[in-house]
Amino acid sequence: MDYFSTQISNLIEELSKLPGVGSKSAQRLAFHIINMPMDSVSHLSQTILLARQNVKYCKQCFTLTDQELCPICGSPKRDQSTIMVVENTRDLAAYEKTGRYEGVYHVLHGAISPALGIGPNDIRLKELISRLQGDVKELIIATNSSLEGETTAMYISKLVKPTGIKVTRIASGVPVGGDLEYIDEVTLLRALEGRVEL
Ligand code: ZN
Repeated sequence: MDYFSTQISNLIEELSKLPGVGSKSAQRLAFHIINMPMDSVSHLSQTILLARQNVKYCKQCFTLTDQELCPICGSPKRDQSTIMVVENTRDLAAYEKTGRYEGVYHVLHGAISPALGIGPNDIRLKELISRLQGDVKELIIATNSSLEGETTAMYISKLVKPTGIKVTRIASGVPVGGDLEYIDEVTLLRALEGRVEL
């Protein structure tokens, strides 16, 4: 039996589909939303809708942006000849938070995983290889230290090394299986500075 009216139940159900939101949090959020002023709710739903409609992939690095080129790729201050390869946009955000990386990125949107049937063609690898036609001095592979992340790093390294471009891997010390986004900035910087050539 439903304790709440259908519309409240629907709201709770929708919110509980979001990652990290359990049923208790969903209830709390639902009641919070219902108590919010009407224009705040309208602003929130409009913001979600606009972001979903307009956010797309940067045509160069494939991070999420609402422009053709993301602010990082478009910045004249960034070193376009150093590309850091990350698995997802959250990892990019983690490195950006350190404020110390001056190159650009390439977001793969995944990692190679034979177990899950995810091959090289299922991630943004072709796009990375075509970027290497330009003036690239170093490719820093910053995929996670999970099995999938390591497999991807090896694959890219084998593919790119014959081109003569320097390929480096962020230092281990980043916990195995650890998502980059949960690692503190000091550890990330240490991993970046301690990168080794493959
Ligand atoms: Zn970009």
